[in-house]
Amino acid sequence: MTLLEEKSRQLSTITQMAAGVAHEIKNPLTAIKGFLQIGAVNPDLRDSYHDIILDEVNRIESIVQDFMMLSKPKSSVQLEYVNLDAIISYVSRLLDPDTSNKEVMIHYTCDSKLNGFYCEPKRLKQILINLVSNAMDALDEDGEVQIEAVLQNDELIISVIDNGHGLSEQELTKLGEPFYTTKEKGTGLGIMVTKKMIDDLDGRLNYQSSKNEGTCVTVRLPFRT
Ligand code: ADP
Ligand code: MG
Repeated sequence: MTLLEEKSRQLSTITQMAAGVAHEIKNPLTAIKGFLQIGAVNPDLRDSYHDIILDEVNRIESIVQDFMMLSKPKSSVQLEYVNLDAIISYVSRLLDPDTSNKEVMIHYTCDSKLNGFYCEPKRLKQILINLVSNAMDALDEDGEVQIEAVLQNDELIISVIDNGHGLSEQELTKLGEPFYTTKEKGTGLGIMVTKKMIDDLDGRLNYQSSKNEGTCVTVRLPFRT
């Protein structure tokens, strides 16, 4: 590929992304504007639209946050001495089912050798939050999410396993595509941003899934001591 062809390919990707972002932000903005207009005419209805407006504002906020993470260069990674057990425990508490409507369980096991190594806590937490949230979203009422962290040949392997609705082969090929979502309130940016953060940390991401059986997502990261 010539330099000019490469530049034109880059421009086309940027144009597609920009159009996607504009579209994804315009939808909630149109909804917010509509509800505010109705509220202006019918003050009695204002309260009932409050939650929808807040939901839509939150949606715009998460789209913008995801894009800010995508534009962060790899050089912004700041390695710190981290304790993986503490990070997983924090994420499990943060996403505790008590705060969602489902009766799901999160369990985790973490190799004691992973109590101290160098990684960036901010990206690591966000990776786990994204993967565990997706796992929880895939569950039915009595579902379970299992997080396992082990050390294998100088590599740290974190698996997030769920017994939720799983993915077909065709759905698996779509993962990581910007704006690919099957959720009413999804942004379809989570996996793309997660992959980028894992790349920043010199790691790898892998999905294994069977329709109606569940999904196992594996993150491999270098174990730096
Ligand atoms: P979002 O969560 O906003 O939909 P993601 O990029 O995080 O965006 O995920 C994209 C899609 O991938 C989801 O809408 C869902 O269909 C599918 N997916 C991701 N993780 C899982 C999982 N653990 N089990 C089943 N489907 C999943
Ligand atoms: Mg997601």
